[in-house]
Amino acid sequence: MNILLLGSGGREHALSWKLAQSRVIAKEGGKLFASPGNPGIADHAECFDMDVTDHDLVTAFCEQEQIGLVVIGPEAPLVDGLADTLRGEGVSVFGPSKAAAQLEGSKGFTKDMCERAGIPTAGYVRTTTLDEAKAALDKFDAPYVLKADGLAAGKGVVIAENREDAEAALEDMFGGQFGDAGAEVVIEEFMRGEEASFFALTDGASILAFGTAQDHKRVGEGDTGPNTGGMGAYSPATIITPELRAEVMQKIITPTVRQMADDGMPYSGVLYAGLMLTDEGPKLVEYNCRFGDPECQVLLMRLEEDLADYMLACATNALGTMERPRFSSDTAMTVVMAAKGYPGTPEKGGMIDLKDAETDGAKVFHAGTLLDDDNVLRANGGRVLNVTAKGADVKAARDAAYAAVEKVDFASGFYRSDIGWREIGRG
Ligand code: ATP
Repeated sequence: MNILLLGSGGREHALSWKLAQSRVIAKEGGKLFASPGNPGIADHAECFDMDVTDHDLVTAFCEQEQIGLVVIGPEAPLVDGLADTLRGEGVSVFGPSKAAAQLEGSKGFTKDMCERAGIPTAGYVRTTTLDEAKAALDKFDAPYVLKADGLAAGKGVVIAENREDAEAALEDMFGGQFGDAGAEVVIEEFMRGEEASFFALTDGASILAFGTAQDHKRVGEGDTGPNTGGMGAYSPATIITPELRAEVMQKIITPTVRQMADDGMPYSGVLYAGLMLTDEGPKLVEYNCRFGDPECQVLLMRLEEDLADYMLACATNALGTMERPRFSSDTAMTVVMAAKGYPGTPEKGGMIDLKDAETDGAKVFHAGTLLDDDNVLRANGGRVLNVTAKGADVKAARDAAYAAVEKVDFASGFYRSDIGWREIGRG
């Protein structure tokens, strides 16, 4: 079967690496295509450029190349309804419909869904004017959690320590800081606890847990400094014990899938729950409608199954026929190497030599790289490489990942040296 993967980041490099090993592709002499891909993805797939906002173009490509499955990596094409168009033309897609992708695309939508389904999450108020929002602050205590309703590339959440800062942030939000994404602002109760990521696959009816991870969002050592897309991650998150996993499935994931189906917008694909593990039990912080980046890299490093089988089962309402996916008992860790300046303005064009970083079983997933005209690998983004390795426990995974990081020659790059500190402390 031919498979088309959309996206260009480290997440998509990991997806392409795993998909390229699939029997689903191999058994019919099939091929993996990727658009736009990156130099790492090009090792596993035929890369080409296509405007994914042009749904007719994507459909025509699928017909021409007889694509049996489209895997949509990032959230934007999902929220834009690409899966609906392709399904309408009879193409199987891994990823939710536009309506179901509102779970990521609208924070207010998700909060209302949680309320209908009785899912534990922070109390909230949806507001559409500055006056309404300022008045709503009365219902909460500091710190105030303010969220632009729509997609804001992970930057739409403000946690204000006091009322004055909260009002100033609301003025910015309603003043157009996040464009349309901030036309509505959700104000939430502040939840205390440790955060963890929980993944499940679903076809809208059947559900399979698909691993856990934790990431480090801040740019600096000890989780300090500005937020980033993620500076590193590890899987599993041992704080999610088997009992807790069962509780999350029962109280959060299953009611979500049922509620979405009852509301006439069945969710299919990967459901990524950002959780807060509070004293009162696990609560939902947010949903994402795609794999996390870099969480995907560590999950797939541990997955001992044919990924395409599971994705196809989600896309064709056949997940009920699949066994619970097996993951290695090892821990996987990814360390992000970023270009100096990130998350502000990253230095572009720095030379990279991967040397023999992959010799001991480590994998270097490309995020923002390009090959120049002389075939030299260069930095082309904020997060540049995701150096990923496995070990029997988190310490062994960390040692293996950092041993590989140290082999990489990337003078204009930097990385955090403390990925996994919390998990290591538990050990
Ligand atoms: P991202 O895309 O980076 O995952 P996002 O913009 O979709 O983030 P959220 O995940 O909802 O937004 O919030 C970002 C972060 O803000 C969370 O990871 C968490 O640390 C913090 N946060 C969000 N909501 C709350 C809350 N109610 N209480 C405490 N912290 C919160």
